[in-house]
Amino acid sequence: MSNNDTEVAIIGGGAAGIAAGRRLRASGIDCLLIEARDRLGGRAWTVKENGFALDLGCGWLHSADRNPWAKIAEDQNRTIDRTRPPWTRPSLPIRFPLEEQHAFHQAMNDLYDRLEAMLAKGGDVAAGAALPPSGRWNNLITAVGTYISGAELDRMSGRDFINYQDTEVNWSVVEGYGATIAAAGSGLRAAFDCAVTRIDHSGPRLKIETVKGTIFADRAIVTLPTAVLAGNENIFAPALPEKIEAARDLPLGLADKLFVALAGAEEFEANTRVFAHTDRVATASYQIRPFGRPMIEVYCGGSHAAALEVGGERAFFDFAVAELTSLFGNDFAGRLKPIAMHCWGADPFAQGSYSYALPGLADRRAVLAAPVEERLFFAGEACSRGDFSTAHGGWFTGTAAAEAAIAARQRVQA
Ligand SMILES: Cc1cc2nc3c(=O)[nH]c(=O)nc-3n(C[C@H](O)[C@H](O)[C@H](O)COP(=O)(O)OP(=O)(O)OC[C@H]3O[C@@H](n4cnc5c(N)ncnc54)[C@H](O)[C@@H]3O)c2cc1C
Repeated sequence: MSNNDTEVAIIGGGAAGIAAGRRLRASGIDCLLIEARDRLGGRAWTVKENGFALDLGCGWLHSADRNPWAKIAEDQNRTIDRTRPPWTRPSLPIRFPLEEQHAFHQAMNDLYDRLEAMLAKGGDVAAGAALPPSGRWNNLITAVGTYISGAELDRMSGRDFINYQDTEVNWSVVEGYGATIAAAGSGLRAAFDCAVTRIDHSGPRLKIETVKGTIFADRAIVTLPTAVLAGNENIFAPALPEKIEAARDLPLGLADKLFVALAGAEEFEANTRVFAHTDRVATASYQIRPFGRPMIEVYCGGSHAAALEVGGERAFFDFAVAELTSLFGNDFAGRLKPIAMHCWGADPFAQGSYSYALPGLADRRAVLAAPVEERLFFAGEACSRGDFSTAHGGWFTGTAAAEAAIAARQRVQA
């Protein structure tokens, strides 16, 4: 088939779109990935810098013992690193003694316990409502909350926060999680640099308008990030206001990573985490020597990351240098050099990093995921009830949407 006609159009070539495409192809069904970028993977993106594969988007195979991307990485002969992640081991005790780290972890566990108790009878509260008034660890918990969810705890649904299913097994791929996901889609038919502007479902066939012309399809699987959908209320014709509203109720939080080269890195143990401040929300997490490499992975989240994005990579680097020199002394600055980063909030085809639900609106994930007229199907991390915000959530929802499309096709043919 040509690139302007397909049986199933998959809109977006990220983790969800690729999973959907693989499922359809396994059933012998023609499909086409329609992707706005010049590459597959979306928020999964590995770049090669200084001889290392760096994941600017997803890096951790979360829930790795049930994460289908782990098997795919193995099938691709990639190297899986099963070292326990830094957040499950003690951080460097500089300015953060081990007893305080213990107290912080206890406070973090208490937050989950308190939320569970508050929500035991139903309803919802903002996740931040479970923080103890004036708790010593509230700011650091909120900072870590922004790394987990991309937003401050008082902005997000507590119900959604505890719905997240985590087996607490976390691995990573030395050659890159993003590279794994993109390679998994390499055999699929795809149209690149082909942003979709409108999905017309008024006629007998779908008319998908793109910046490169119209593509006709019988069915479509829409995997657009919620922030992209939320800003495009005319993307469906006739309009689907319930989808746009659901996308608005599931905004994308922000998390950004900066990789910084570190001279003389060997003085640190591999995969060590350090915090420069435990008393404020606007602080970053530093993973020193990820995979034993001579670098630091700087992780910023929430409003703090959004504020830094205004100044671009330089602002992230200056911030990291200021925090790290406050820990290790002024000479440390001379050992640091920025390598790579991506501002996900400023990226027009993502407009954020991963989804969270607004308070009271955790059920909007199911609304977003529901098919329309047996021919528009929805997938993407935000559609997952328990694996949202992750690449494996993308996989599961993409596969489910493809299976729903296959079932709809069989009903029509029967
Ligand atoms: C900094 C960062 C760290 C992360 N860390 C982790 C982690 O450690 N582990 C983990 O599991 N997850 C992590 N994530 C989240 C993970 O990357 C995402 O949840 C996942 O990749 C989303 O996949 P998706 O297919 O739902 O969406 P996307 O990957 O966003 O795919 C949607 C696709 O649609 C395309 N698109 C957008 N607009 C249009 C348009 N108009 N027309 C056509 N195509 C369009 C996009 O270019 C994109 O390719 C991280 C994300 C970030 C940003």
